[in-house]
Amino acid sequence: MANLTLKNVGKTYAGGAQAAVSGVNIDIADGEFIVLVGPSGCGKSTLLRMVAGLETISEGEIHIGDRLVNQLDPAERDIAMVFQNYALYPHMTVRDNMAYGLKNRGESKAVIAERVAEAARMLELGPYLDRKPRALSGGQRQRVAMGRAIVRQPAAFLFDEPLSNLDAKLRVSMRMEIRKLQKRLGTTSLYVTHDQLEAMTLADRLVVLNGGRIEQIGAPLDIYRRP
Ligand code: ADP
Ligand code: ADP
Repeated sequence: MANLTLKNVGKTYAGGAQAAVSGVNIDIADGEFIVLVGPSGCGKSTLLRMVAGLETISEGEIHIGDRLVNQLDPAERDIAMVFQNYALYPHMTVRDNMAYGLKNRGESKAVIAERVAEAARMLELGPYLDRKPRALSGGQRQRVAMGRAIVRQPAAFLFDEPLSNLDAKLRVSMRMEIRKLQKRLGTTSLYVTHDQLEAMTLADRLVVLNGGRIEQIGAPLDIYRRP
């Protein structure tokens, strides 16, 4: 767990006519759930990818806890990202998908088994641990992606439209579940979505991006009440 600080963060892609993101300042408190919204092309995914370390930062500073992470690899940042397309390893079982990150960083077998079992309990994935992703429904796959993030006990979660590939009914139940899990774990979260209801339900604070800049930042009711 940690706070997440973006100071004057900007990104200009090579050959990009203008900045994809510029002058972004956000102080995310430890345990806070921030939702990023805004029109297509406003820079949401660029911003998330810079925090994740999947994209270089052109300007400014990103801090996770008291560490400046601008130059760190994704694996060194102590964050876990959940993707829209789940990004599971197709040849591995659910158990191995969840265990992968922990194995990579050399956790003991006992710790891995315990964390995977606990996440499987929380996400009701127990009966599916020995299946491959292709034998799961979309909702179950997304739970595995969540499980893989949870077991790492990261300083922060990043979510890139994690529910957009699910049908409407599942989206509603999964978003309640994500909120419950996040509250229970107390993990600082930065969540990108197109869905206004999702944003309203999940956010402690909303950040509205437009043209790569922050247009509004505040409690969901304050933002959506305005004309
Ligand atoms: P959003 O996630 O809000 O839809 P993006 O972060 O994907 O927005 O894109 C922000 C801007 O940066 C857009 O103008 C987009 O065309 C541009 N962009 C995104 N990725 C690249 C890239 N790899 N190279 C050049 N321009 C990019
Ligand atoms: P770490 O889990 O330590 O962040 P990884 O090398 O496991 O680093 O992968 C980073 C992210 O990229 C993972 O969260 C995973 O979703 C995605 N990824 C990596 N390799 C693949 C792959 N072969 N297929 C699908 N997604 C992958």
